[in-house]
Amino acid sequence: MTATTSTPGDLDRRRVFHPFSIPGAHERDGGPAMIVSGSGSTLTAADGRTYLDAMAGLWCVNVGYGHPKVAEAIHRQAVKLPYYHSFSSMATDQPALLADKIIELTGDLGMSKVFFGSSGSDANDTQVKLVWHYNNLLGRPQKKKIIARHRGYHGVTVASASLTGLPAMHAQFDLPLPQVRHVTPPYSLWERRPGEDDAAFSARLAAELDALIVAEGPDTVAAFIAEPVQAAGGVLPPPEGYFPAIQAVLRKHDVLMIADEVVSGFGRLGGWFGSHVLGIEPDLMTIAKGVTSAYVPLSGVVVSEHVWKVLSGDGGVFQHGYTYSSHPLAAAAALANLEVVEEEGLVAQVSARGDHLRARLNEALGDHPLVGEVRGLGLVAAVEFVAERGEQPKRFDPSLAVAARITRACLERGMITRALPAADTISFSPPFTIAEQEIDQIVAIAREAVDSVA
Ligand code: PLP
Repeated sequence: MTATTSTPGDLDRRRVFHPFSIPGAHERDGGPAMIVSGSGSTLTAADGRTYLDAMAGLWCVNVGYGHPKVAEAIHRQAVKLPYYHSFSSMATDQPALLADKIIELTGDLGMSKVFFGSSGSDANDTQVKLVWHYNNLLGRPQKKKIIARHRGYHGVTVASASLTGLPAMHAQFDLPLPQVRHVTPPYSLWERRPGEDDAAFSARLAAELDALIVAEGPDTVAAFIAEPVQAAGGVLPPPEGYFPAIQAVLRKHDVLMIADEVVSGFGRLGGWFGSHVLGIEPDLMTIAKGVTSAYVPLSGVVVSEHVWKVLSGDGGVFQHGYTYSSHPLAAAAALANLEVVEEEGLVAQVSARGDHLRARLNEALGDHPLVGEVRGLGLVAAVEFVAERGEQPKRFDPSLAVAARITRACLERGMITRALPAADTISFSPPFTIAEQEIDQIVAIAREAVDSVA
């Protein structure tokens, strides 16, 4: 046998099929950076370069990299009981403790049970099945359509990609499913009409939803799904009063509200859940990412007491569940992670750091000729680029890929942001533990990067 001289980078190019990549491209282009370690908000690559991670991975490493408390909990659980399943009446202790903790954190939202999975996508698939089963149990088998929003991101499985409102995610796969509809998102920069205040904008979007439900037939519409702040679609905080106006329409037509809290849950918006921050009263919630700070994959569907009452009627066995549902190791990681968030006061810190981030971004880029808007809420922010500013801004030609070029310029300068091409936007969603000084560094690099492509 000959000794291999292949580096992990070589093997990556040869053997790994990367998600969200052009198949084969990185084999030709030399491949992505090979990240080998992380500490706090900083990542280190195999070539020794360091990167300030302004995205906490993919909006998820909320307690930062290398937190010893989470790492130790994972180790302890791996030695004691790495896995056992939870099908039927089997159980392990960590998911039980975690479900109780999650329900406690939802406070007065009326939640009752947690169904665990491993990813935001599989949890949103579970949502679709739950909602369909719920209406079957209620004897209204025709009430199955689900309304989502353009630019929403809910995952990549067949059902969750259908809910996702980004055409690029549908085209290759003959999606969306025929039961799914999309409505206009609260995207102030482009959707708000001249002279429209928050109340009028919210009322118009709620009226659009109402008209769609009436046109489809209220007895055919089961649920509406929304991220409290649309993240991947452009970081779009809603106008004041948006969710109360939407929920009034849903109540009128007996349509369930699903809050997709995959990004917003567990502190990202400055409260435990986006539903708390924005006055949403969900019937069902989707959680993932921040529940474990991504140290181990874990997701869940949080079910309200009144939906649970229907599901626990006499429908027989719920024919759904994953090998990794209620995974004890993932649950142990989540419990330790949530303890860190509580002990270190990180939810309150999110608000302070978020205010700092938006203030610095506004100072550095708010008046820049390429910048249409700086926006955000809690510790998530975005800068959108436009060809022309002003009352009636003009978009860049998408082929110029302005946000992608700026993101690359940031990377070359040692900072990771994320381009959201559908909105010509770069986004920021750093760990909650980030220092103000690191935020200042992120903003300084972003400014340099914008200038470099201007
Ligand atoms: N829902 C939201 C709001 C998300 O942002 C994401 C991922 O970014 C998902 C669902 C899908 O989660 P996953 O990538 O874990 O499947």
